[in-house]
Amino acid sequence: MRCRHCGWPEQEPYEVVSRHVTSQGVIVYSRCACGRLQVRRHDRVVLQARTPTPGVAGPAAGCAAR
Ligand SMILES: [Zn+2]
Repeated sequence: MRCRHCGWPEQEPYEVVSRHVTSQGVIVYSRCACGRLQVRRHDRVVLQARTPTPGVAGPAAGCAAR
């Protein structure tokens, strides 16, 4: 599988943000080359953000917030 945004292979995390050892195994938070966050467990992606910057994607959100 490759990232739909930047084409980076999802098996190779671009940047490991943090790593947590839980009762279910090691949870790794990683960031893609395009800035998208991934959560992976045992080298499998279990959660993936849809956009690189969630919450800032709205076209008029920036103007309305200020
Ligand atoms: Zn990407």
